[in-house]
Amino acid sequence: MVGGGGRDSLLRRRVGDWDVATSALPETVASLFAGSRYENRFGTVTVPRAVPPQRVEITTFRRDHQYADHRRPDSVTFTDSLDEDLARRDFTVNAIAWGRQATDASPRWSDPTDGLADLDARLIRAVGDPAKRFDEDALRLLRAARFSAQLGFAIEPATLEAMSGTAGTISYVSKERIGMELRKMVMADPPSGAFRILADTGVLAGALPELDAQRDVPQDKVTGDDLWGHCLRTVDAAADLGGDDKLRLAALLHDIGKPPTFADGHFIGHDSEGAKLAEALLTRLAYPRRMIEDVALLIANHMFSYEHRWSGAAVRRFIRRVGREHVQPLLQLRRADNVGSGLPANAGHVDELESRINAELKQNAPLTLRELAVDGNDLVAELGIAPSPQVGDLLERLLGEVIADPSRNTREALLAQAREWSAT
Ligand code: ATP
Ligand code: MG
Repeated sequence: MVGGGGRDSLLRRRVGDWDVATSALPETVASLFAGSRYENRFGTVTVPRAVPPQRVEITTFRRDHQYADHRRPDSVTFTDSLDEDLARRDFTVNAIAWGRQATDASPRWSDPTDGLADLDARLIRAVGDPAKRFDEDALRLLRAARFSAQLGFAIEPATLEAMSGTAGTISYVSKERIGMELRKMVMADPPSGAFRILADTGVLAGALPELDAQRDVPQDKVTGDDLWGHCLRTVDAAADLGGDDKLRLAALLHDIGKPPTFADGHFIGHDSEGAKLAEALLTRLAYPRRMIEDVALLIANHMFSYEHRWSGAAVRRFIRRVGREHVQPLLQLRRADNVGSGLPANAGHVDELESRINAELKQNAPLTLRELAVDGNDLVAELGIAPSPQVGDLLERLLGEVIADPSRNTREALLAQAREWSAT
């Protein structure tokens, strides 16, 4: 057993998946396990399971040769030496194996790169010559930052220095892979460490330039913090609130519209600009459509300002504008933004707005066209108007009336109102 399984069990962390290494050739492994797949040229056989983890990856001990594309070895050679296999792995804490080798009486740890000591010291250290290892495979730049945040480990100084030296090779990593690592990074608790490392080593500028553009943009929220500092505080606050990946991404990206809109100390329109940039960024990283839309919606709406004097109708209009399913995450984003600005989470009376929203939602007042007591067909039939955009306009106006006063949502009242409007 190699990789994350051993590392995470020693750290008493939940193990996500088990990776197994063996001297057996892939064809042999595949013949031993029903339903297994051998589909890449690096010697990995995936074995499906009915119980978690849903699959186990079994990799034949190997040596890698030359990485001309800074991502994948040009070829691999299978070997029967576990130590050789561990030597081609990325970080010492990932190069520890548990098992029984041919000459062993019982299973034991194999640790030729002193990963156990680094696990104790809580250090991410490249196996071998760090600059060479990052240059071989630029994905390791992201993995180093991600493991550092996930595990709460520091990056060993020579490894960190090599990251700065090889940061430019990040351009060889596909957008999808950057997206996958980003999703893991935001789920670290707290996430900010990963982004700080990427920014400080220069990797961020190549991987996620929109985020990097926030560095050194002035921001007078927390003393000494620039916009980037505010961004990192906000994503940590979102994590602290137990936020899911959408909320954390929205928190990380909520102000990316600020650098391009900065003028005379203001950031006019940064919310809608930020939503656009976030959509473009997450699309580039091949995120699921639904997730992109939700994150963009949260960013587009993050600048609302609630006041005590809002009427019930104003609260209902707010819910309608944002959408029932998005109000809760939007309030969480505001709480995170508040904390990221050095304010209490409840600044701007978020808690009060939340309880008023919940009270409104309990009343089940109509908030969408579908919930009106009449539809377009009713208007066409009863008012004798042609199916046209006018029908849609009338329905919108009726919904406005009903949101102002939910008791008006009856067929008779709405038809009478629509008749009156269409007569004038
Ligand atoms: P997790 O599964 O929690 O993300 P992991 O360490 O198990 O962490 P995997 O991506 O599952 O990571 O990879 C399994 C092991 O394969 C790693 O622990 C490491 O030893 C090796 N490995 C994975 N990717 C690389 C890489 N790009 N370069 C070198 N070794 C790698
Ligand atoms: Mg793993």
